[in-house]
This record gives sequence, structure tokens and C-alpha cells, in this order.
Amino acid sequence: MALLNENYLKLPGSYLFAEIAKRVTQFKAENPEANIIRLGIGDVTKPLTPTVIESLHKAVDEMANAETFRGYGPEQGYNFLIKKIIETDYIPRGITLDEDEVFVSDGSKSDVGNIQEIFGVHNKVAITDPVYPVYLDTNVMAGRTGTISNGVFENVTYLPCNAENKFIPELPKEKVDLIYLCVPNNPTGTTLSRSELKKWVDYAKANNSIILFDAAYEAYIQDPELPHSIYEIEGAKDVAIEFRSFSKTAGFTGTRCAFTVVPKTVMGLTSKGEPHPLNKLWNRRQTTKFNGVPYIIQKGAEAVYSPEGQAEIKGIVSYYMDNARIIKEGLDSIGLETFGGVNAPYIWLKTPKGMDSWSFFDKLLREVHIVGTPGTGFGPAGEGYFRLTAFGNKEATIEAVERIKTKLKL
Ligand code: PLP
Repeated sequence: MALLNENYLKLPGSYLFAEIAKRVTQFKAENPEANIIRLGIGDVTKPLTPTVIESLHKAVDEMANAETFRGYGPEQGYNFLIKKIIETDYIPRGITLDEDEVFVSDGSKSDVGNIQEIFGVHNKVAITDPVYPVYLDTNVMAGRTGTISNGVFENVTYLPCNAENKFIPELPKEKVDLIYLCVPNNPTGTTLSRSELKKWVDYAKANNSIILFDAAYEAYIQDPELPHSIYEIEGAKDVAIEFRSFSKTAGFTGTRCAFTVVPKTVMGLTSKGEPHPLNKLWNRRQTTKFNGVPYIIQKGAEAVYSPEGQAEIKGIVSYYMDNARIIKEGLDSIGLETFGGVNAPYIWLKTPKGMDSWSFFDKLLREVHIVGTPGTGFGPAGEGYFRLTAFGNKEATIEAVERIKTKLKL
């Protein structure tokens, strides 16, 4: 008899997006003429840039020729890409990394989900709330949590981030072992300053904890004072693993390429208290379970680092950030309370008059035909909030904001 991993049964169904789809379908059936605008999606809409496309085409041609054909590549990624990552994303920020500290992958979702495998099941996990749900769900699957009641899992330290604390998580009162930080944050669009991050690095050092730092949206940071990498913080190379992705930076959501930095100085402890480098474990995990990102895709990612590629992705980021500004200014002008949208492509708003997130979802859909994402989908502290994204097309975004300004009954 094949027994289940019953931890999976602790997870509520993928309620959020199924429920959104259900409500939108029903609304459409009742209002076939409605022109629905989706500002709920976390996917990008702009295509890959010309430089990336050119590089992808060249790499496809190489695969057609026995002399240049590539089969299995290094599981950790090709050196040509890793070198560019280090030279472009890290060295200019004063961070040196060895090539074997960077692991190229098929996405940050896989990496932030898989990383917990190299840690013992009895570690205590802390997550900011609300946040990208993958961190919590993968720890539930691994058996690191108890069961859920009222939307809250036992044996998880939730770090609520809300308007009252300016979306700055407080250090936990109890000792935690694994800390997930998402900066800039999905869904709140807020960031953490250098001094806030320093507190976490100091906490991790003092408590032998590890910070799992998801920087999928670092390219959206506009404020020059804000760090883009956790390794800009002194001491972080001893306690932090960083995740980055080409998805939101360069439109690779469907193309799939990301990377994870595991410095050789980050140690976990054996049960006897002996330190052991996490880099070795992650390397073992990846070489055993992963066979690398396609050569063609890594050539596409390499092109992102050419001068033309860098200029093109700056253009994409500013296109989306202009959408973010349009949404934020529009909502602010009618007295809605908004957060984020300045250093991230997400606008997080407080639902008016204390409405719950789902009631506001229905109101927005019915009155102005706009789809957003209810805050509760990202954790219990998301109740009473709502997420809009800047990844849409500009004309549709302008139209959506106009509708909200002129037709939404507040
Ligand atoms: N991390 C965060 C915070 C995200 O919001 C997302 C995607 O929405 C990801 C990671 C996944 O990125 P990828 O496309 O590289 O798997």
C-alpha cells in the first residue's frame, strides 16, 4: 500500500486563483458586454527584448550543428552566464562571489520551494505575512508545520506586516531558524532599508538562523539608497541565501531562468553542533535532482547582461513602473490608502471602510469591471487589503484607473 505524504493534506486547496476565476466567469456570463481589465496578474505582458531574441535564435542554430551542439550542461549553470551575473549584479555593489556560489536554475519558484529540503524538519520557520505563498506551502509539505486553523498554521512564526508597522516586520520574540524575507515584497510592494536588513542579519548571526532572501523584484528598486542584495549588508554572507530571477526583470516568466546564491561561508549545523556549508548541500541537491537550464535559455539570459540588453530591460522596468505610478496616483487622488508601487510593481491598498478583501474584489468587478487580487490570498495579515499589479498594458492600466476614479462608489 502506498501511503501518502499526509502533510499535503494539511494544505487548503489552491483557493485563491480558482475562486477568482470562478467569480470572473460568473460575472462574464451575467454581463457579456463588460470589458474586464485584469490588474490581478503577477505575470508580465511585454515580450522578450530584441537582444535576447537574437541571442536565443543564434543558440538555436548552434544546436543544429554537431560542432556546436550542446547536450547536458553543468547542473549549476554555464560559466558564461555565471560570470556575467557576478560581474554585473554583484561586483558593482561591492560584493565578490566565487563562480561556484551561484546556481543557475529554471526559476525562483523552484529554488525558494526546494531550498527547505536541505534543512532539518524540526527547524522553526518565520515568514513575513502577507507574502508569496510558496515559502509557507513548501514548508507545510515538508512537515515543518502543524495544521491550519482560521487560515493560520501551527508552528510557524508569522511576522505581520501592515500599515500600522509600515510593513516592517518585527524581529521574532522566540528563536527561529529559517527566516524568509521577500524584498521588495510581493504583494505589498514595500521594501526594507539597509538598517532594517542589518537587524535581520544581526538576529540571524546571534541565533544561528539562516535568511532566505527572495529578491525577485530587485530590478524595480528606484531609490538609490536601498540595497538590491542582502550581501550589501555586512555579515550577510555568513547567514543568507539569495534568490534572483530573470522573470520579472527581463520577461522570462515563460522562458524560465533564475539563479540562487549560496555563499560557501553560510553554515548549517549538524545535530552535534558541527557547522557544515550549505553550498555543498545545495550543490548535492541540484546535481542529484536537476539537470540544468537549457543552453539556449542561458544564452538568452546572458544577452540580458550585454549593454543593449541592460538598456532594454531598464526600458521594460520603467514602463511597468510608470503603470505603478499611474495606479498609485489615481487611487491616492480619490482618497484610497495605497502602499508600495514606488520600488516595486505592486500596489497594495487598504480596502475602504473596513471592507474585507473579497467584498472589495466583488465591488471592483461589479462596479468597474476590474479584477485584482484579494489580500487574504497572501496570508492572514492580508485581510482588509488588496493587490493591483503594474504588469498590464499601459492603455488598459490608464483606462482601469480612470474607471476607478470616476465610477467606483466609495
Ligand atoms: N518570488 C516571488 C516573490 C515571486 O513573486 C515570484 C513570482 O511571482 C517568484 C519568486 C517566481 O519567480 P520565477 O518565475 O523565477 O519562478
